[in-house]
This record gives sequence, C-alpha cells and structure tokens, in this order.
Amino acid sequence: MKQIKNFIDGQFVASKTWFDKRSPVDNTLIAQVAEAGQTDVDTAVKAARAALNGPWGQMAIADRVDLLYGVADEINRRFDDFLEAECADTGKPMSLARHVDIPRGAANFKIFADVVKNVPTEFFETATPDGRGALNYAMRRPVGVVGVICPWNLPLLLMTWKVGPALACGNAVVVKPSEETPQTATLLGEVMNAVGMPKGVYNVVHGFGPDSAGEHLTTHPGVNAITFTGETRTGTAIMRAAAEGARPVSFEMGGKNAAIVFADCDFDAAIEGTLRSCFINCGQVCLGTERVYVERPIFDRFVAALKSGAEAMKLGRPNDPSTGIGPLISKEHQNKVLSYYQKAVAEGATVITGGGVPKMDGELDQGCWIQPTIWTGLGDDATVCREEIFGPCCHIAPFDSEEDVIRRANDNVYGLATAIWTTNLARAHRVAGRIEVGLAWVNSWFLRDLRTPFGGAKQSGIGREGGVHSLEFYTELKNVCIKL
Ligand code: NAD
Repeated sequence: MKQIKNFIDGQFVASKTWFDKRSPVDNTLIAQVAEAGQTDVDTAVKAARAALNGPWGQMAIADRVDLLYGVADEINRRFDDFLEAECADTGKPMSLARHVDIPRGAANFKIFADVVKNVPTEFFETATPDGRGALNYAMRRPVGVVGVICPWNLPLLLMTWKVGPALACGNAVVVKPSEETPQTATLLGEVMNAVGMPKGVYNVVHGFGPDSAGEHLTTHPGVNAITFTGETRTGTAIMRAAAEGARPVSFEMGGKNAAIVFADCDFDAAIEGTLRSCFINCGQVCLGTERVYVERPIFDRFVAALKSGAEAMKLGRPNDPSTGIGPLISKEHQNKVLSYYQKAVAEGATVITGGGVPKMDGELDQGCWIQPTIWTGLGDDATVCREEIFGPCCHIAPFDSEEDVIRRANDNVYGLATAIWTTNLARAHRVAGRIEVGLAWVNSWFLRDLRTPFGGAKQSGIGREGGVHSLEFYTELKNVCIKL
C-alpha cells in the first residue's frame, strides 16, 4: 500500500494518524495518507521561518529564478509520474491532465520567476524646503511564511499557481493540499530536494479542514499570510482565523457562472465552448458554466445541439484515450451533486438529458460516476439556478433582450466568470463591462494568459492573482525615502 507522508523541512515525515485515499474511478484504496497534527504543522511553520532566516532569505533574485526554472524542468522530466499521480487521485482523463494540469503546473514556476526578474518599482524625486530634495523608491520584500490551502479539482495547477509566485517573491510556504488529492503536492517535495531547494522553503502538511491540518495551519500565529482556493463557506471560516493577528488573505472561491449566447453568435463555436465549460473535468471547474442564457430565436436549436454533444461524451477510465469525462471526486460529492439533480426535478425542471448515476461496467460501478445533465424550464429562483453544484450540469433558459440577460446574469451572490457568445464586437464589449465578474470571456472559455489578472468579484474571491498582480499579495511593497 502506497504511503503519502508530510513533507517538512526537506524530509518525508510519517504520522500517528493515517487516513484512506480511495480511487474515484472504482473506489479501491489507493493510498494511506499521514494526517499532520498540531505539532507537525508547528514544525513545518518553524521550518519555513528558519528557511527565511537562512540562505533562502539572502539569495539573489537571479539564483532564485534559476532554482524555480529547475523546479519546472524537473516536473517536466518527471511528467509521467505527476500525470499518473494526478489522474489516480482525481480520476480525470489523462488526455486532459496531459494538456492542462501538468504542463500548467510546471509553467507556473517559470512565469512568476520571469515576472519577479523583470518587474520594476516606482521612483519619485521630492522637492524639500532646503532645496536639497529627497529620493523615494519602492522595493518589494517577501511577506514571510505563507499558508497555502488548496482544493481538489485542479490540484497541481492551482497549488503551483500560489506556490510559484510565493517562492518567486522569496517567501517560504506550508501547503495543505485537499484531503482528496494528496499526491502531486507530495511529489513536488521530491522535486524540491532534487533541484536543491533549501530545506523548509516548501513544506506539505496533509489532512482535513476543521480540527485538522487546515485549521492548525490557518490559526498558527507564525503564518504571515493565507492564500486559499475552495468554497466560499470555507473561505469565510478561514477569514475568521486570519482575523487573529489581522493577517492578509487571498481568496479564490466559488462561482455560479453564466454563459450568454446571442442569436448572432458563431453557433458551432458557442456549442463547442459551452460543452467544454459545462462538462470538462466532470463540471468540477470553478470557472465552469452552470447557467446558460440563450437568445430566444436560437433557443430550441441550441438545446438540441448541446444535448447531442453531451450525450456523445464518453465516461471512462483516465487512461482510455476515448474518455471524455471521468468520475466526480468522491462518494460524498457524488451524493451532493445527485441531491441537486433530484431537487431540479422536484422543482419542476424538464430533464433534457442525464439526471442520474449511470450504470457502469464491472468494478467501475463502484466509482463516483454521474451523468452529464441538462435542464430547461426552471425560473431563475430555482435552487439549481442559484447555488453552485460543481458537477457536469447546466440549466438553459431563453432571454429576449440584452438588458434582461445582464440583469439575470448579475442576480447572484457569486461573480467569478462569464462567457459571452456574439459576433457583434460593440455588444461584446458593452456586456463584458456590465457583468459583475472578475473574468469575462468573449467567444471563448478558459483561455488564459498567465500575465493577466485572475480572481472573482462579489463572493467569488478577494484579490487578484496572475502576473504582477500576484506580487501585491506575496510581497510587502516598502518605500525608502532618502533625504539628500
Ligand atoms: P473546500 O472549501 O471544501 O476545501 C478547500 C480546502 O480547504 C481543502 O484543502 C480543505 O481541507 C480546506 N479546508 C476546509 N475547511 C477548512 C477550515 N475550516 N480551515 C482550513 N482549511 C479548511 O473546497 P473543495 O471542495 O476542495 O473545492 C471546490 C470549491 O473550490 C468550489 O466551490 C469551487 O468553485 C472552488 N474553486 C474556486 C477556484 C477559483 O479560482 N475561484 C478554483 C478551484 C475551485
């Protein structure tokens, strides 16, 4: 049986308590994971602090950049190990992880190394009454020990999206991966040792949230800042913990994203994009679409085309090249998504396709499978039109005017992303400006330039990450004023 240990101060560390990691594909036990207790978390935070006070804290930017390039290269050298581990934990198709999760996980180290290497700061000359003047210049310094709390849907990619900039800025981190996906964060510990990253710069503690590693980390007074991706409810709890000591937070949280499809869209592109935004990664993408608004003249045609696209998606094992969709992450999540499917019907939805748990062959039947599902016929107040489900499903509703659809898309507590499908450029620009989100796509979805700001409006997030925006959280910007 595989054992996944904590990674503290450059060592793999066992624990008194272990928890099971099961495969979402067929529910087999794939590993036992060491749960970090309060003492382990304390040791990790102290190791991170010691690293900041050691050579890492004094390292020249050029040397730090070289190390981070080395991390990216080593992930790519061990690409298949990461691919295997990520797909074992999540059940996602290898075809997806090979193109998204692993390469992006590696790229996150290079992109932020480049940002830090090249970013300028500001300079002002100040006139003074004695005529001698003063010089002001800003410098960036690491914020310190950063607690990194991660979700399970894109484990390596979202974790390195935080660890990449944190280390590029010279911080030390203690990472708490999701209990569902412990493997790739642990493998990254091997990579750190292989490239010669100083001990204590990168630490991993495994476990759950409340009364476990998550809470131990976020309440630890030695943690200077907390970055978190996950549910808004969890973010609220973490914010309470961060209030002690008034520590800064960076939050990427839930969404209930709307796609808006105008009748003048490129129809095939809108269908292809909406199929991906609703169903890729089995709907477990924070930026994914769960509400689709379609202008009435093309409504029936759109529903029919999305239905046939959804029904063509093959559910299967990660290593089967014909697999389009894997399982949900866990039995618990399967039950949650299924309860929404039942609620949709109870509230009067028309089920266009799906709606339940599929019958799978052999041992796969023990896995966490769910059917891609499309509903119509519900009002905007229906539960499945308001709450984040995080499964492969959407409700499609018709709309009659631009004003009407903007109001309806904005009528939600979340504000993460939207996808607007139209060939009218002026309208695209107008609507993108009025939708209350952090990310608005026009005629695309999930197209990301890592230099651009990423984050959510309203209850979908606090702060922006990406490119120079990550520096706002991972550094203290200090002004030096020199009187001449
Ligand atoms: P989650 O909030 O259940 O868990 C996220 C992490 O927080 C896990 O590591 C968990 O162990 C930890 N945690 C839970 N309670 C805690 C506590 N009290 N203190 C400290 N840590 C705690 O989220 P999830 O189910 O892993 O991920 C799905 C959610 O993440 C969805 O809501 C999705 O929209 C969101 N998400 C958002 C983005 C984004 O960029 N905005 C990206 C991916 C996922």
